[in-house]
Amino acid sequence: MSQTSKSDAITAAPTGLALPSYLQADKLGPWGIYLQQVDRVVPYLGSLARWADTLRRPKRALIVDVPIQMDNGSIAHFEGYRVQHNTSRGPGKGGVRFHQDVTLSEVMALSAWMSIKNAAVNVPYGGAKGGIRVDPKTLSRGELERMTRRYTSEIGIIIGPTKDIPAPDVNTNEQIMAWMMDTYSMNEGATATGVVTGKPVDLGGSLGRRDATGRGVFTVGVEAANHIGLDTRTARIAVQGFGNVGGVAARLFAESGARIVSVQDHGGTIYREAGLDVPALLAHVAVVGSVAGFVGAEVIANDAFWDVDCDILIPAALEQQITEANAPRIKAKMIIEGANGPTTPAADDILHDRNILVLPDVIANAGGVTVSYFEWVQDFSSFFWSEDEINARLVRIMKEAFAGVWQVAQENTVSLRTATFIVACKRILHARELRGLYP
Ligand code: GLU
Repeated sequence: MSQTSKSDAITAAPTGLALPSYLQADKLGPWGIYLQQVDRVVPYLGSLARWADTLRRPKRALIVDVPIQMDNGSIAHFEGYRVQHNTSRGPGKGGVRFHQDVTLSEVMALSAWMSIKNAAVNVPYGGAKGGIRVDPKTLSRGELERMTRRYTSEIGIIIGPTKDIPAPDVNTNEQIMAWMMDTYSMNEGATATGVVTGKPVDLGGSLGRRDATGRGVFTVGVEAANHIGLDTRTARIAVQGFGNVGGVAARLFAESGARIVSVQDHGGTIYREAGLDVPALLAHVAVVGSVAGFVGAEVIANDAFWDVDCDILIPAALEQQITEANAPRIKAKMIIEGANGPTTPAADDILHDRNILVLPDVIANAGGVTVSYFEWVQDFSSFFWSEDEINARLVRIMKEAFAGVWQVAQENTVSLRTATFIVACKRILHARELRGLYP
């Protein structure tokens, strides 16, 4: 077979049809949503479309058994995952989540969204994600540490500072990153700070990392609002999720003058038309663990959250929150996706028809991984930057990425999500093409 016909064979490969069942979008979980997002972008990829199947399957997926001894002497087994979706542009990069609903296909989708996100802001990483199917609230601190360490050791065969760099995500934090760094380093026989990001500052972490995702949400939100004539300083904002993303974004918007009128989390939904006292709410959540019981706000039904009269809605919790069922009720003019995958494709279409601007996760929440990149660079050079320097670089990268995506959206008359996918997929597949197939 000639070189040309080999290439043609790749071009002619049926897209989608040959995928094994677990890779298909028949049940529209997060992976199915991601596959639909890829389908929407393929017509805009030009000659790079011949490589599009690269995006439709993860490069590498590892399932690990995580056995630990519980405090009562029994042995418990947890299922853990690490998926490297793509490494064409650099090492795998993405968080680790501990949640009772984590599945392999969810982690696959989250890893793929990391590939898109990292390419969208042009940091030199591929995409990866990990998780353990566990409710960490049911574990003691000792059990949590043993589970984290055993998981790290099990995925140690595929992670590393130049291979794949985990970070915090849902229910994981600086302490868990410290245990991961220590476990990997013990196995290697040398301290390897660059194996994870989101570490404590005293262990090679970066100033500004804790607030970075929320700061990115705020930065991109203000940029986008300016484009549609919405003044964020007088806006009314509803936030779902009040952790590291929603809480920080709410604080920054409130500091700039906005009114946070409603917050929903796992403890319930609160509302105050005049605006919630965000510092007081942050202090309450730090003690109680949720918004439940916060004085100075009205409690409303969880479902009523979607009817709240607001200008901006920030979903900053889990996937598939904005659906066909509630998208027609949303009153906001703009949605900023702090969470990964909060909007289903059907809801995306409804919001588009209703002229509600959606700032997609793959650009809106990219601030976290951007400062993770700064942390990794600082670890490699053992030279640390000031917080002002980090925030200034973060804002510059986010603004530039947003401006590029906005322009592509205008040129092609597509949503910001499709525009972000166009920018990112072109970068990934161009790298793929330059590297070529091995052997
Ligand atoms: N978990 C975060 C995300 O979804 C950050 C990942 C990272 O810093 O590597 O973007």
